[in-house]
Amino acid sequence: MTSPLKDRLIAKIKAEGPLTVAEYMTICLLDPVHGYYPTRDPLGSDGDFITAPEISQMFGEVIGLWCLQTWQDMGRPHIVQLIELGPGRGIMMSDILRAAKLDKDFLAALSVTLIEASPALEAVQGKTLKSAPCQIGWVASLEKAPKGPSIIIGNEFLDCLPIRQFVQKDRFAGRAGWQERMITLDEEALRFGISPAPISENLKTCLPNAQEDAKNDNLLEVCPATAQIIDQIEQRFKIDSGRALFIDYGPETTEFGDTLQALKRHKKVGVFSDPGNTDLTARVDFGALIENAKAIDLAVTRAVAQREFLSKLGLEMRAVALSRAKPESKEKIARQLHRLTASDEMGELFKAICFQSEGLGLPLGFRDFA
Ligand code: SAH
Repeated sequence: MTSPLKDRLIAKIKAEGPLTVAEYMTICLLDPVHGYYPTRDPLGSDGDFITAPEISQMFGEVIGLWCLQTWQDMGRPHIVQLIELGPGRGIMMSDILRAAKLDKDFLAALSVTLIEASPALEAVQGKTLKSAPCQIGWVASLEKAPKGPSIIIGNEFLDCLPIRQFVQKDRFAGRAGWQERMITLDEEALRFGISPAPISENLKTCLPNAQEDAKNDNLLEVCPATAQIIDQIEQRFKIDSGRALFIDYGPETTEFGDTLQALKRHKKVGVFSDPGNTDLTARVDFGALIENAKAIDLAVTRAVAQREFLSKLGLEMRAVALSRAKPESKEKIARQLHRLTASDEMGELFKAICFQSEGLGLPLGFRDFA
C-alpha cells in the first residue's frame, strides 16, 4: 500500500540517505501534515489502541489518590504544579481531578499543565476538561512548564518516544562493535539495513550496561528522548521538590531484541505497512531509566508491576465501592479490574516507576529505591 507519507519518506531517503529508527518514528508519529498523532484521535475501542484510563475511571482515580499523598509527602505546598505528559483524551486528568476533590486544600493548590504534541488531541483534552474544577494550561515542553513544587505524570507516554536501534556486530570489540540499524530502501520499498559505520563516541556512552553481555547480532534499543526528559526532571527537582510517575509497558531490566511495533485497529501490523496511519511504539527499558537517573544522581524507585502498584493504591477497594454504588455495572467493573491487573492482561507487563527530589520518603505503591 502506498500513502503520501510513504512517498515522502522514500523521496527523503533517496535524497538524503537512510533514516535512523528514531527519525522514522518521529516523522510517522508527529509530522504535522501526515503524522499519526496530529491528524486523529487514535484512542478507544473505535481507534487503534486502548489505554488504562480509557478502560476504567478507577485507574485515574487511584492515580489521583497517589498525587494527593505525594502533595502531603511534599509538605502540602500552597501551589503544586500537576504536569501531565501525553494526556491523550484527557480522561486520566479528569479522573484525577475527581479524586482530588476529596481534599479541598489539595484541589485549591493544584495548577494543571498538559504537554501534548498533537493539536487534534489537545482539542479533545480541552473538551474533556472544560468543566474541570481548576485552571488548565498547555505548554510545548517540560522546560516551559511553570516552576515550583511539582507532580509529573505520564501514562503510555514513554513508549511512543523515538528509539534508536543498535546491533552488536563484533562482540570482542565491546562498545566499538555496535552498528546502527537504519531504515533504507529496496527499490521503492522501505526496509531495515545496518549502517556500515561504527557508532559515535557519544552514542557508545548511551548504550545500557547490558551491552556487555551481548552476543553477535543481539539488538539493543536506546531512547535518547527519555534520557533527555529524565535530565529535565532532575533540573526541576534540584530547585523544587517533586515526584515524577511513569506507567508503561516493558521489562524491569534491559532485554535484547527488536520491540518496535505498529498497531492498527487493535492489531499488530508491519512497521512499514502504512506509515503515518499506524501507531508506533517500543517497550520501555525500565533498567535503562534507572541507569539514566543514577548517572545524574536523581532518586528513582525500582519499577513495580501495575497490578501491585494499583493494588497498593486501593484499586480493589475502589472497585467494591463503585459496584455498590452501581450494582447494574458490577460485572463490567469486575472485567475492568481484570484487564488492569491480571497477569495475562496489563498487570505484569505494565510497570510503574517514580523519580523524585532529595529528601522525600518512598512513594506510595513502591517497594524500594533502586
Ligand atoms: N496518556 C494517555 C495517552 C497515551 S497515547 C492515555 O493513557 O490514554 C500517547 C500520548 O502522547 C498522546 O496524547 C500523544 O499525542 C502524546 N505524545 C506523543 N509524543 C509526544 C511528544 N513528543 N510530546 C508530547 N506528547 C506526545
